[in-house]
Amino acid sequence: MTSNYGISPKAQRILKVLKEFVENDCIPAEATFNQQIGKGEARFQIVPPVLEQLKVKAKTLGLWNLFLGEEEYGTLGAGLTNFEYALMAEQMGRSIRLAPEACNCSAPDTGNMEVLAKYGSDAQKQRWLTPLLAGEIRSAFAMTEPNVASSDATNIGTSIVRDEKTATYLINGHKWWITGAGDPRCQFFFVVGQTNPSHPNPYQRQSVVLVPAKTPGVKVVRPLEVFGYDDAPSGHCEVTFENVRVPVDNIILGEGRGFEVLQGRLGPGRLHHCMRAIGLAERAMDLTLARITSRTAFGRKLAENAVVMHQIATCRMNVEQARLLVLHAAGKMDRVGPKGAQREIAIAKIRVPNLVLKVIDDCIQMHGAAGVGADLILAEMYAGARTLRIADGPDDVHLSQFGRNEIKKYLAQKAKL
Ligand SMILES: Cc1cc2nc3c(=O)[nH]c(=O)nc-3n(C[C@H](O)[C@H](O)[C@H](O)COP(=O)(O)OP(=O)(O)OC[C@H]3O[C@@H](n4cnc5c(N)ncnc54)[C@H](O)[C@@H]3O)c2cc1C
Repeated sequence: MTSNYGISPKAQRILKVLKEFVENDCIPAEATFNQQIGKGEARFQIVPPVLEQLKVKAKTLGLWNLFLGEEEYGTLGAGLTNFEYALMAEQMGRSIRLAPEACNCSAPDTGNMEVLAKYGSDAQKQRWLTPLLAGEIRSAFAMTEPNVASSDATNIGTSIVRDEKTATYLINGHKWWITGAGDPRCQFFFVVGQTNPSHPNPYQRQSVVLVPAKTPGVKVVRPLEVFGYDDAPSGHCEVTFENVRVPVDNIILGEGRGFEVLQGRLGPGRLHHCMRAIGLAERAMDLTLARITSRTAFGRKLAENAVVMHQIATCRMNVEQARLLVLHAAGKMDRVGPKGAQREIAIAKIRVPNLVLKVIDDCIQMHGAAGVGADLILAEMYAGARTLRIADGPDDVHLSQFGRNEIKKYLAQKAKL
């Protein structure tokens, strides 16, 4: 990144400190984190101390809760615009395992904090938002289910039944790929399920309920792996909810309003993933440039082959395109809010993971066998970027929706003529 894009002096200051923190503290700590996390089941039982040390330092440096903008969340966060946060998230994406969490800016907590700040009752804010904002606990968002196509959230089948006598909800459901559920610090789940299964409008059947992780009947069955990577200690887990009871006050926003919560949560969250992915691609390029300019094959440096030059050029163009899409969407979100920027967020959500994936793939190629091995970070980056084409809604689904909306717009304009 060569420009500060005319951001405020405050944001420039934070960006400078953040860049140094990521390069000098987070990236060097990755090896220590990998050692401390250990092997086997222990991976989900401890939090590597180096991570907590980084959190203390980030807080001291003022690099905390950077994702919460002033307009919507007042003094809860750093008060940056979405555009400014995009530049910050790119830097955090360079050390994807450590920097976002070190700065209390990692998913799914960010989205969950936004939900609590926007829709939580005072009691919920006090009990759950305050410790999340302080980085003392973690949380999860449980929507996806193994037994239904979950990219269509109307399919979600978990049952949430109101019991008037005990003023509780009775919850039964089976979830998987629940990020954060493996973390020993995960203290609650937002659970998506049907409170109103016979409502004529399928978009008003689902609700979101807050379930403390220690509630009887909640079981984290197993961590799942992405191409062999388990993302411990937070993990992506299979979780069952069997006859789980929570007070009716634990409903978020109200019965049948799950889709409103989902929409409010996912728009900015999708863009945050894209923002971080650009940092991932930049780091992959840095590693690759160092490699190709220092390694010799057939009597010349790898970098002196036209094919390699073309790959580097393509990588750079793909990163620039990705960044422009993200900044355009973030800027629009600042001007007209997430709803008004839906189209730009959708374009970024569809294009950016694909562009970044291509960059990492090319970087792997230029590394030879080392690129696919676990000694370097490229294979793990590839696995992470590949999931972005699926997590928070598969890109094919967004593509269909985007195309449908473009056609609708054309037809509406034509009808006016
Ligand atoms: C690493 C990772 C972390 C995750 N974290 C979480 C989490 O924290 N919480 C959570 O609830 N979920 C999480 N998920 C789950 C993720 O959100 C879902 O996998 C995703 O929404 C797709 O649902 P599905 O897997 O059931 O795919 P399905 O709904 O079965 O869809 C399969 C495929 O069908 C195609 N398809 C379906 N509908 C259409 C359409 N209309 N147009 C075009 N193509 C279509 C797409 O290619 C799609 O990929 C995570 C997933 C991963 C991989």
